[in-house]
Amino acid sequence: MTMEHGEDCSVKVAVHVRPLIGDEKLQGCKDCVAVVPGKPQVQIGSHSFTFDHVYGSTGTPSAAMFDECVAPLVDGLFQGYNATVLAYGQTGSGKTYTMGTACKEGSHIGIIPRAMAALFDKIENLKSQVEFQLRISFIEILKEEVRDLLDPTAATVGKVENGNGHAKLSVPGKPPVQIREASNGVITLAGSTEVHVSTQKEMTACLEQGSLSRATGSTNMNNQSSRSHAIFTITLEQMRKTDPIMTADGMPIEEMNEDYLCAKLHLVDLAGSERAKRTGSDGLRFKEGVHINRGLLALGNVISALGDEKKRKEGAHVPYRDSKLTRLLQDSLGGNSKTVMIACISPADINAEETLNTLKYANRAR
Ligand code: ADP
Ligand code: MG
Repeated sequence: MTMEHGEDCSVKVAVHVRPLIGDEKLQGCKDCVAVVPGKPQVQIGSHSFTFDHVYGSTGTPSAAMFDECVAPLVDGLFQGYNATVLAYGQTGSGKTYTMGTACKEGSHIGIIPRAMAALFDKIENLKSQVEFQLRISFIEILKEEVRDLLDPTAATVGKVENGNGHAKLSVPGKPPVQIREASNGVITLAGSTEVHVSTQKEMTACLEQGSLSRATGSTNMNNQSSRSHAIFTITLEQMRKTDPIMTADGMPIEEMNEDYLCAKLHLVDLAGSERAKRTGSDGLRFKEGVHINRGLLALGNVISALGDEKKRKEGAHVPYRDSKLTRLLQDSLGGNSKTVMIACISPADINAEETLNTLKYANRAR
């Protein structure tokens, strides 16, 4: 199932296979996923898939994953390129662990904290020539509604149950967050909090606050975080302080060759990809499942349209408008922006069917 894959393709796909976890071992699960040594290839049953990168459970996969998949995107920010990192997979497959969305996971450092460290390292090196401004937003999309995870009023007003087991913010008259598209194609979120930060510590505090808000928004009945997309966005603005230093043939030596640049990096912990099961008699769960599928389905269609070079050259329609998720990411998927999808999978035989679904979805993205 190997496909030719152009170097200029703006979408890269990696697979992260986590080890069997305690629960699975207790249940006597067997490992049914094989990583082909030295190749970015995974096998499950009679199926074999090749991706840009495959990370197994040996070595230090998260450091290698960051260096190979995400560091180039952080570098791109400094040249003004938007970027998106997406963690896809069924609930329990390791999306949050991989992204580091929940902050603390033992000694493991996820992608978001690593991206922050890389970003501040670069800023430190460039700050004599360039002035930087950083803004953070952290939202989640649940049932096609955008919720602000950094809402400063949320902590004091608390949450109320809205009767069907879902926590709703009880902010009187607070309008929902709206996705807006400016005439130049730039997507903004109207009504969501943007926090200006100047240190890694402040940025980490945003991640922690939002993660907490996401967690406390869930109820004991349902695990909300498995059904919502969480999007942590870093916006980097750069203003040149000095004239660029040129080489003899008139090329700027520094990376920044404009006076002003603005770019954003979206770090996305997607909703669980498992098939929706009709559990409630009122069909409420089912409706949520349909909505989640809308985001993931639209994302699959968008990424597959972007990856299809032939279609791209013909200027084919990319269905960004089919979901809130793809609308929000519209200016950071395709075009000049760089995208990495990390498909997270469990190696356990009981998850084989969902694992195969995940690999097929990821394969379509290539
Ligand atoms: P998801 O966000 O996809 O629902 P989690 O990231 O919460 O999944 O992971 C589920 C469980 O598996 C957690 O207990 C997490 O600590 C563990 N886990 C996930 N990935 C790994 C990994 N690569 N190595 C060790 N444990 C992992
Ligand atoms: Mg999670």
